[in-house]
Amino acid sequence: MALTAVKGFNDILPDEAARWRHIEQTARRVFEQYGFGEIRVPVMEKTELFCRSIGDATDIVEKEMYTFVDKGENSVTLRPEGTAGVMRAFIEHKLYAQDPVARLYYMGPMFRYERPQKGRYRQFHQIGAELTGVTDPLADAQVLTMLTLFFREIGLQEPTLQINSLGCPDCRPAYRAALRVYLEERLGLLCEDCKRRYDTNPLRALDCKVPGCAEATSAAPSVLEHLCTGCDEHFGLVRHYLELSGTDYRINSRMVRGLDYYTRTTFEMVTGLLGSQSAVAAGGRYDGLISQLGGPALPGIGFAMGVERVALLLGSQDFSTTPDLFIATMGQGERELAFTLMDGLLKGGFRVEMDYEGKSLKSQMRRADKLKANYSVVIGGNEVAAGSASFKRMADGSTTGVPLTVSAIQTFLSGALR
Ligand code: ATP
Ligand code: MG
Repeated sequence: MALTAVKGFNDILPDEAARWRHIEQTARRVFEQYGFGEIRVPVMEKTELFCRSIGDATDIVEKEMYTFVDKGENSVTLRPEGTAGVMRAFIEHKLYAQDPVARLYYMGPMFRYERPQKGRYRQFHQIGAELTGVTDPLADAQVLTMLTLFFREIGLQEPTLQINSLGCPDCRPAYRAALRVYLEERLGLLCEDCKRRYDTNPLRALDCKVPGCAEATSAAPSVLEHLCTGCDEHFGLVRHYLELSGTDYRINSRMVRGLDYYTRTTFEMVTGLLGSQSAVAAGGRYDGLISQLGGPALPGIGFAMGVERVALLLGSQDFSTTPDLFIATMGQGERELAFTLMDGLLKGGFRVEMDYEGKSLKSQMRRADKLKANYSVVIGGNEVAAGSASFKRMADGSTTGVPLTVSAIQTFLSGALR
């Protein structure tokens, strides 16, 4: 029996990969325009890093991590998200010493042991960005406008931005306490997970997808009404700057993120088009994380988007590249000329295809169609004798006579494809 891939691990085939490259290239362009530089960190880290950053009582650490003991008896984990590793590297290499304001982006595979379904896999891919060293709400607004611009540049109307504030270590305990008082009377209505998390992580009940939990928490106290003055002002300014920049958003006071390190601003880019996998990108502020990992007391904010979900939103849009020219030949003698022309044009930066197998003209033209070549040319004895051939635009059949030299064809194609 032929072998198959591991469950939840996907192959990205060429058509899909072309869509992915479009996403990645757009992200690089937009993020670099905003001054972010790429960082590449390992896919595997010491398990402790994720326990200490994401938090022991989160779904990710409790049940979703790919954790192994390696041959040296060390516990290692395939990264379930990017921020922890990027901040580990930021601290380890003292990047903050050059400039506490670092702007970093990354892209690559992440691993979580979840139940595979559409938009949810065990190896999935994220593109993320992190901005350190700025407490001012301008940083929050900048990150959010960048993320919004990314989705606009990629050509998507969906998703839309939702924001919330989760407060800080000063005000969140009082909110947690108020929420627990509210939940205590409704414990019987909550799902098993939320019951279990009532002690360790009661906020998760607010965005639990189980209908009973949604109903039980419908009148729960709002985190926004429990913010301390500092957090309240901060959130007000984030909104003010978003408005100044004309960025649309909706406040969702029930949004809690599944990672413990978030403080103050949290956000999601949400779509109605992917069923329950509605978050296409998500992030927030993590003002305590860097010091918690042994680094300096610097704030940070960032996000990660799920590439598979962005690709699903792009649907079947075709981003694959097509040949500029297909050269068809009539006989063996012409194939040598065709090969020389193709070789010269390829070296000149054009995408050129020809028939390799001496097939019939009809089948060569079928192939030109199938490859969606922009232009085609047929080279036979007459064309060789005349030293020129007629180049056909495949879209409408219109033709242009062009001398059969690399430079003449280059000049023609440069003009025609512009
Ligand atoms: P969800 O609520 O869908 O489980 P999450 O809160 O676990 O998402 P984050 O940890 O914030 O997600 O990750 C950011 C983004 O990464 C998500 O918005 C989503 O687009 C993507 N993502 C997360 N987990 C998966 C997965 N298992 N498969 C595919 N994409 C994922
Ligand atoms: Mg999740």
